[in-house]
Amino acid sequence: MQLARFPRLRFAHLPTPLEPLTRLARELGGPHLYVKRDDCTGLAFGGNKTRKLEFLVADAVAGGADTLITAGGVQSNHVRQTAAAAARLDLACHLVLTRNVPRTDEDYVSGGNIQLDRLLGAGVHVLPEGENREQAMDGLADRLRAQGRRPYVIPVGGSNAVGALGYVAAAAEIERQAEERDLLVDHVVVAASSGGTQAGLVAGFHGLRSRTRVIGIDVEADADVTAAAVRRHAAETLAHLGCSEAATPGVEVVAGHGGDGYGLPSTEMIDAVQRLARLEGLILDPVYTGKAMAGLIALIAAGRFAPSETVVFLHTGGQPALFAYRSAFAGGG
Ligand SMILES: *Cc1c(COP(=O)(O)O)cnc(C)c1O
Repeated sequence: MQLARFPRLRFAHLPTPLEPLTRLARELGGPHLYVKRDDCTGLAFGGNKTRKLEFLVADAVAGGADTLITAGGVQSNHVRQTAAAAARLDLACHLVLTRNVPRTDEDYVSGGNIQLDRLLGAGVHVLPEGENREQAMDGLADRLRAQGRRPYVIPVGGSNAVGALGYVAAAAEIERQAEERDLLVDHVVVAASSGGTQAGLVAGFHGLRSRTRVIGIDVEADADVTAAAVRRHAAETLAHLGCSEAATPGVEVVAGHGGDGYGLPSTEMIDAVQRLARLEGLILDPVYTGKAMAGLIALIAAGRFAPSETVVFLHTGGQPALFAYRSAFAGGG
């Protein structure tokens, strides 16, 4: 797919491991389950945004930028990985953060990811309630330009056609790992939020003419909006790759596992996080992978997969947020 045409910096630990989830598969009665460990991409606790940032930061540097600006919630994993990439590459970094989740305890407000953002030396700007983060990023970029800086704005979640290239490359990596092990991967299951991760995978497997289908689990509690974002980013990514002539691939986003809303803990999420910890020694996160795993467990219970099929759960990281949600796990968590 000619990924080599696009500028890319290398700071992710790749390939990430592909490991069997033997005890979970046995307990659930199949299918064959694997976890793709993108929580192990290595940059300041890793996660899926590191793959996107290899292309986004390369694009910034190629254009002469000296400052990265991005936005997210107070517990955003994306802004934490952006701050780390900026530190590595000697770029200044400004983070526009919104209080997008109604949690006000000390762990949430100053622990977990935001603690790491500050440690990484980023400028942290917490927006007053009701202000628009895209406008705030643009305003900040204007002020920095007036001071002679050269800012580069990365969208929320790193989700655009450039960032999604990281997951086009990840699709090829999964395809290669499966081939090496004689595995036929039928489905990849992934948390879907801003949509760039699923979009990159969809575009990547499509471009490879792969058998593998991608199932997104909506964590926004608004699956129609999430699916529309995935579709839009997938189409943009295919166009960016020059495959726009091909029929656009189908996009599946499963509703019903976002609980009461983005970042709000659900009983099902807490059960999934505890179950994976105790069965597999695998730590999930409370906002994305806990809900996505709950979705996968529910799909298996509903008979979605044949016992002979192979399903890969993409672990997108996010564990630093566990410490910000300590109170949600009180009592056996
Ligand atoms: C950002 C994020 C996701 C969602 O990825 P999108 O590309 O925004 O859909 C999933 N898991 C974790 C841990 C994340 O930080």
